This record gives sequence, C-alpha cells and structure tokens, in this order.
Amino acid sequence: MQSLIQAMNSSDLAEVPEGIGDIDWIRAAGMAGQRHSTAVSLWQLCELGDLRAGRQAVAGAMAEAVKLGNEERAAEAAATVIEWMMHPTCKPCHGRGFDLIPGAGRPTLSDHACTHCGGTGQRPRPWRDDEKALYDRLTELQAQAAAAIIKRIKDRAGA
Ligand SMILES: [Zn+2]
Repeated sequence: MQSLIQAMNSSDLAEVPEGIGDIDWIRAAGMAGQRHSTAVSLWQLCELGDLRAGRQAVAGAMAEAVKLGNEERAAEAAATVIEWMMHPTCKPCHGRGFDLIPGAGRPTLSDHACTHCGGTGQRPRPWRDDEKALYDRLTELQAQAAAAIIKRIKDRAGA
C-alpha cells in the first residue's frame, strides 16, 4: 500500500490513527475502487505492476479524455500518459536528479543536475496539451480516491 500512502498528502496522513494495518488499507481501497475505479486501476497498473488492471485503466483514462473534449485522440493520449505513469523515473540518473561523482567509493551525488531530466528525477514529458490535460485530470482523480480511502479508514477507526 506504499503507493497509496505516497499518493496522500502528508497532513492527511498525520491524522490517520496508529495501528492501521495493511488489511485496513486494502479493504478501504477495495471499497473506494467501486466509485474510483479509474484511479484505483491506475495504481494497480502503474505502481503495483498489475497488468490485469490495464484494460480498466486505459478504458477509464480514455473516458476521461473524452470528457475533456478529446474524443479524436482519446486512445493516443491515454496510451502516452499511462505509459509515462508506468515508468516515471529518469533512467540515466535512476530518479536521483543529479549525476553521481565518478570514482567515489560509494554512490555520492554531485551538484550537477542530470542533463536528461534537469534534476527532477522524472522522465521528460514532451507532451501535447491534450495529454497534459489528461495527466492533470488523472492525478486529480487519484487525489480524490486517496482522500476517500483516508476518510473510510478514519471512519472505521472511529477517529
Ligand atoms: Zn535524470
């Protein structure tokens, strides 16, 4: 459930009572999955590598693209964005954002930003506007789903 936890903002997370186990997260994610199926299937596909969620994730993303008025390129935009979400890490720097100091005994970061990602640690996104809009929409849906999961867990715990 690391992926869910990362998706939630830290102030929300601080309010979650102690003693919440994986089973509680999974149960809450399952319930949220019924109403937030696109967001949850994207997590399953992109963060957990569960390819069985691929069909639902792509169908959900395409539906969102259509809602954004992008009927013509819905499939293409969904493919571009989901492919990036499956592999967001900059390969040359392994997500560190900075080059390593050559010859250092242990991996040591230099102060040279990685030239491939400009220090972000993420793969570049040379996207069209409709693809950027779809990405924003999908991350918004994931934030909503994360909030729903947090709420459910808090309610269960009686917090
Ligand atoms: Zn990089």
